[in-house]
Amino acid sequence: MTQNYDAIVIGAGVSGLYTLYKLRKLGLTVRVFEAGGDIGGTWYWNRYPGARFDSESYSYQYSFSQELIDEWNWSEHFSAQPEIERYLHFVADKFDLRRDIECNARVAAVTYDENEKRWEIATHNGLRARARYVICATGLLSAHQYPDYEGVADFAGLSLHTARWPKDPVDFRGKRVGIIGTGPTAVQIIQTIAPDCGRLTVFQRTANWCTPLRNRPITAEEQQALKEKAHEIFAQCKRNWAGFIHEPDPRRAMDVPKAERMARYQMLYDRGGFALWLGNFSDSFMSREAADEVAEFLAAKIRERVADPETAEKLIPKHPFGTKRCPGEKNYYETFNLPNVRLVDLRETPIKKISRTGIETTNELHELDVIIYATGFHSLTGELLRMDIRGEHGRSLQEHWADGPRTNLGIQFSGFPNLWAIMGPHNPAVFCNIPRCAETNVEWIVDCIRYMREKGFETMATTPEAEDAWTRRCYESVKGLLIDDMRDSWFFGSTNPENVRGRFLLFAGGVPLYREIFANVAANGYEGFELR
Ligand code: NAP
Repeated sequence: MTQNYDAIVIGAGVSGLYTLYKLRKLGLTVRVFEAGGDIGGTWYWNRYPGARFDSESYSYQYSFSQELIDEWNWSEHFSAQPEIERYLHFVADKFDLRRDIECNARVAAVTYDENEKRWEIATHNGLRARARYVICATGLLSAHQYPDYEGVADFAGLSLHTARWPKDPVDFRGKRVGIIGTGPTAVQIIQTIAPDCGRLTVFQRTANWCTPLRNRPITAEEQQALKEKAHEIFAQCKRNWAGFIHEPDPRRAMDVPKAERMARYQMLYDRGGFALWLGNFSDSFMSREAADEVAEFLAAKIRERVADPETAEKLIPKHPFGTKRCPGEKNYYETFNLPNVRLVDLRETPIKKISRTGIETTNELHELDVIIYATGFHSLTGELLRMDIRGEHGRSLQEHWADGPRTNLGIQFSGFPNLWAIMGPHNPAVFCNIPRCAETNVEWIVDCIRYMREKGFETMATTPEAEDAWTRRCYESVKGLLIDDMRDSWFFGSTNPENVRGRFLLFAGGVPLYREIFANVAANGYEGFELR
């Protein structure tokens, strides 16, 4: 039987939960369909050992309820996945959200009925529902990907993807473990499990510039102070280009005397988190000279910390500092000093195939009991394209994006009225602390639905012209940034299908500008959107 609602939300992660909360406040009937066995999204699926925030816990939490801020105590400056998951459960229970959430319900199809001006969704487990509004809160890094090596399915041991980690603990003791990938996820898991493994072999294709996380418990005094200044912290995130608490020095790096620059790098290195990445000088993302100096600073640290000089050189990245998200590490480099840990450089000896017994590179068969894939996601477009979304005239999102994703403000696609995406392509995403931008998106969409209902509009759809303009603006936004030369990152969909790959999938104009654009569009009667 098909159930009818005012709104359907796809996904019960950080964005989906908040969307449900806000839409309910508007008096709408809402149903959330969630693929996972429980709520939490990213923090449900990515339960691998060592998974934790790379943003300060208090900058990541929801900002909408002071009561919630007062009631919840984060135990660490960068809390770990179990605590984050508990927080999201606490939120769901506190606001009685669960009664409108259907778990184990992966959405397969989202189809627009033009006559009725209603969307109908169908889940893989046979549920059907209709609604006037659909909000895709499916996350930007949800569609995990395995590498396309021959034999991935043939391995006789245990294969694990970090984004599908089992709930029961995995025992690595005495096991020969191999991990493919050295991105932020891999760094977290490698440094956590290495001491437990019989042997750990790290298969690295590209080294990353890691910076120390400097996690520590939040003391009782800090706890109180953080609650009192919570809104100051949120305001700080909103003013900064990248949406985090780290405020860059407004000067250009090379305008500052060298001794002062070096002291700043050290101070930021000691501060931890994304401080060195996002809190550096104002031209950090533009000046190769400035980026190279930070790279030199970090390379010296790696050489100091890694005992074997050959391994140290392999761990020093070749790309400019700051052009990929910096993994936050604790003893990551020292991990390679452990006698049971080995680094395999896939640039020297690429993987030929996965065999029944392990990973075969061009010069060796690495026999393994466990293979961990920390190989990332089909970023931003992944989960949206895995659903069969069909808008006006039965046209699918796959067809609409045949030449790469096109969006207006990252939230709507032309020909798909009353369907919105949160943190889809062309959002600031990686240059934004996720909940800060998710809240911006959710609040704007919900305000827009309120406006439509007050004014008697049935549908809202971006015009193709506004969509083209925003898509072009996103491509323009990366020009002049060092990131523009880094086509092999998920910012450019490096592991996505070919029609997505190579196009900039984000908006790099900064969080303050993004928020300003949103506010202006609404103030101008939703300019660029057609209301009918
Ligand atoms: P990722 O950054 O895309 O890294 C994937 C890793 O797998 C890279 O090292 C990549 O190497 C490697 N890889 C992919 N395909 C491969 C292949 N065929 N052969 C060998 N290696 C292969 O993914 P991620 O580490 O999961 O992180 C994704 C994003 O999630 C991060 O940027 C971050 O924003 C977020 N994250 C956040 C946290 C947190 O604390 N909040 C934690 C983890 C992740 P190449 O670089 O050579 O492609």
